[in-house]
Amino acid sequence: MGLHVDRWGEGYAVFDGKQRLTGAYSNRDIALRAMDRKEDEARHAQQARNRNCLTCGGEFWSTGHGNRMCDGCRGRHSGLDARMVGG
Ligand SMILES: [Zn+2]
Repeated sequence: MGLHVDRWGEGYAVFDGKQRLTGAYSNRDIALRAMDRKEDEARHAQQARNRNCLTCGGEFWSTGHGNRMCDGCRGRHSGLDARMVGG
């Protein structure tokens, strides 16, 4: 990652190379924390890939290690109680 904090306008901003990613922050500490968040987001984006659902085995787009069930299975599980009450 080429993220860094640099002066911008009256304050500081986070840059990726020459591209500015954030607005101006009034002090450098806040800008550094914003940079940490950007790096976290980038790490999570790297973990996103197709995985096989733990429940049905079907392939689905997973946003990270904690995301192991496809939307269909998650929907079924969360909707189960309501259907049992109604049925
Ligand atoms: Zn599934």
